[in-house]
Formats: sequence, C-alpha cells, structure tokens
Amino acid sequence: MIQYKSTRGSRNVKSGAQAIIKGIAEDKGLYVPETFPKLQVEIQDLIDCDYRQVAKAVLPQFLTDYTQEELAHCIDSAYDEKFEAPEVVPVVKADNAWFIELYHGKTAAFKDMALSILPYLLTTAMKKEREESKIVILTATSGDTGKAALEGFADVPNTEIVVFFPDSGVSQVQKQQMVTQEGANTHVFGITGNFDDAQTGVKHIFGNAAYAKTLADMGCKLSSANSINIGRLVPQVTYYVWSYVQLVKQGALKAGEPMNVVVPTGNFGNILAAYYAKQMGIPIHRFICASNENKVLTDFINTGCYDISERAFHVTNSPSMDILISSNLERLLYHLSGNDGDEVKALMDGLDQNKKYQVSEKIKEGLKEFYGGFADEKETKAAIGELYSKTQYLMDTHTAVAYKVYQDYRAETGDETPTVIASTASAYKFAEAVCDAVGLPQFRNGFDAISALNAFTGVTVPKGLRNLESKKVLHTGVVDKDALWDAVKGSLE
Ligand SMILES: *Cc1c(COP(=O)(O)O)cnc(C)c1O
Repeated sequence: MIQYKSTRGSRNVKSGAQAIIKGIAEDKGLYVPETFPKLQVEIQDLIDCDYRQVAKAVLPQFLTDYTQEELAHCIDSAYDEKFEAPEVVPVVKADNAWFIELYHGKTAAFKDMALSILPYLLTTAMKKEREESKIVILTATSGDTGKAALEGFADVPNTEIVVFFPDSGVSQVQKQQMVTQEGANTHVFGITGNFDDAQTGVKHIFGNAAYAKTLADMGCKLSSANSINIGRLVPQVTYYVWSYVQLVKQGALKAGEPMNVVVPTGNFGNILAAYYAKQMGIPIHRFICASNENKVLTDFINTGCYDISERAFHVTNSPSMDILISSNLERLLYHLSGNDGDEVKALMDGLDQNKKYQVSEKIKEGLKEFYGGFADEKETKAAIGELYSKTQYLMDTHTAVAYKVYQDYRAETGDETPTVIASTASAYKFAEAVCDAVGLPQFRNGFDAISALNAFTGVTVPKGLRNLESKKVLHTGVVDKDALWDAVKGSLE
C-alpha cells in the first residue's frame, strides 16, 4: 500500500484519495509517495495495449486505496474521444528524436493529460472519504493549466473552480480560451502581476487558517488543480511508460535498453513524472531539463544553487514556462535527500527568506542524472523554422525549446541514446511566434496567425481553437495581485 507524506517533515500520512482532496499538506509541503511502486507487468506485455490499458497498469500502483473498478472508470472517462488522436498520445519520429504528442486533448496543451482525469479522481476520492463540503479548486496558471482545469471541472457537481492568470503574460489565444469558458461553477480572473505572483498568492490562501475557517463556514474546502496536487502528477507518469513501450514497438530499442527524456520545463511537474516513471522501472538514462530565458533551473542543475535573488522575470514566446519558482522541484529535493523533510523545509525557508538556497553534496550527486540547458526566443524560433523546413514537422514554441536544448546536449555529450521529447502544445496555441518562425509575416492578432499557419502548413487546427475568436467573453474581472482572496470569496457568495 502506498501512502503519501509531506515533503516538509510533517508525520501525518495520507491515502492517495486524502492527498488528492487536500492538494497541499498542512505544513505547506507537497505530498509524495512514501515509497515508489514498481510496474507489475513486463514491457513486452504492454506492446499491444492502448493508452487506457497502459494507464491501468500505472495508476493502481500509485493509488492503492482506489479499487480497480474506480480507476478503470476514471481512466475510461478521461481518455476517450475528447482526444482528437485515436492513439490519445502519438509518438512521432522527426529528425533525431521521437516527439510524444501530449496536446491532442480539448485545450491543445499537455495539461489535458492530467486535468481530464483529475476531476474523476477527485470526485471519486470525495465519495470514498465521505467528503460533504463543496470542493473549491483554486488555480494559478501561466496559461495552459487554467483552461485545462476549467474544461475538466466545468459543471462537475459539488465543485467550484477559480482561476487566476497573469493578465499580460499569456497569449491572446490562451486568454480567449479562458475568458470564454462556460459552466456555472467557473470563475476566471486576470491579475496585475506575473505567474509567480499568482502562484504565491494562491499558496498564501492555502496556508491561511482564518480563510479556511471562513470557507468551512460556507461549507467549502480548498483543493488545487496545479501540479502541486499529486493527482496531477501520477497520471503524467503513464505517458513515459507509454512512450517507452512505443519506442520498443517501433524497433528503436529493445525492452530494457535505456532512453533519454527531454522536457520543456516550467513548474517541474512533467519532468518529475519522468523521474517517477524511472523509479517504477522504466530505464531512463538522462533527464534533459529545457528552460527558456527564465533559466533558473539550468543554473540550478549546473551549480546546486537555486537563486532568484537577482533574476529578472522574462515574458517570452514560450509563456507556459515563464516561471522562476518551480514548485515540484521540492519533491525531487525530497527524494534525492533520502526523504529528509527537515532538510527540505530548511531549503524552502531559505528560498522564502533569502530568495536562494544551496543543496547538499548528496542532492548534487543525485542531480547528475539531469542535464540543464536553455534556449532564448530567437533560438526557439530558429529551431521551429529549421525542423519544419527539414522534415515538415511543426513544433510549438515550448517543444522547440526542448528540441534546441536536445541538439545542444547531443553536440556536447555525443550521447546517441534514443530520445523522446515531450511535445507540450499545438503550434496553433502560439501561432504568432510560429508564423514568424516558418517565414510567414508577423501577425499581431493570434487568430489571423492561426488561419495563415493553417493555410501554409495544412496541419489540422485543433477543435478547441476553431471559432474561438467569435465566442462570447463571459469573464472580465482583473484583480490586484494582493487581492486574490477577495476575488475567491466573492466568487463563492
Ligand atoms: C505547463 C507547460 C509546460 C511546463 O510544464 P511543467 O510541468 O510546469 O514543467 C511546458 N509547455 C507547455 C505548453 C505547458 O503548458
């Protein structure tokens, strides 16, 4: 049986269902599995399985308190025809890498992989735990989580969802996706600040006992749809198992041989899921962590020092990675420290107080499995243009950051281990930059860019982005970054 503990040393253990309902631990730590489960099937036995069947081999190992039937229901309800690709997650070779296309869900970004199943995991958990309060999902977004969470939770009984996004830090398409969201339980606000302000504001609300009391009096309880919720992380492990199986199936490697994983990284959730897949038994050689100009993780992996004290925040053409405080790194620190909650708490307090911390030699040693690199905006666009003219394969800006860092990694190390790249969004979500990259004129309007890019490449526009421009705007609120609580309270009254 797998139980969940806080990264900051609190002794309380929780079942999977309890950890998913709570979202974040009382000591502000993140829930982590006490031990890592192993896959109980051979890779060979997964070769002819579809995505849902692979998920059914992964999720029960982590969520041991759910029954097989409960998880089968969650998995089958989440990964159905909502996904526009019949494989759910195609694994496509282009140039010298395999792209794990994680963006064929409703909102055209990889967040759908976890957020299409989280509402089912959460409502099942509420039934199991006889939870009678209304669950209020509180979410800070750099653009993609917000929409995916809204789609997942819209009109789910006994839930409300409140989303905060940086008003001038998301793409036009991302913003339009969120402010046109339907559903009586959905609440969406821009904030005057960046993503870190939104995330910090939300974490403060979670940590405030007086707010919790006010909410309890209203019959409500907070939970999170951010990747601090273990219910987001666990479903993401599946696609690393899935992509390994697809590489074996396509003959790129034999079962047991290693692969590398490249992940365009923001909050460190996606790459951490790859790390969890390795702990389950998937042979992953290197974790290649790709950042944009907000390269705090590149520097951290190279030096063991996490330092945001004198770092400017850059708004880039890969906005979903414009993050300086990568929440899920805390989980990696916990695992690499040998499950030392006191050590992690001291590091996190250091980050709070001094805006930096230096890890121990032991953690540094563990970081050697990771490679950190970054690409600036120009290099990102150049990568899109080059790969497209070479192979006709179209990447979005985030995936392009990963592709560029992978080319640097190969040149630097000569490592030719078969490699998968997490392809995290449809190019149409960031069409302005992608148009420019493939040699089309620069468009100010994201919707004009979508049409032009479609006419030029012939790549199908995802359903969720068609006719988006003419949808009715339903959410117009913009709040000060210090006034998030008032917005939450107001939404529930
Ligand atoms: C969220 C997001 C990322 C970053 O993923 P993390 O799990 O936060 O590291 C990268 N690309 C896109 C398109 C995203 O939406």
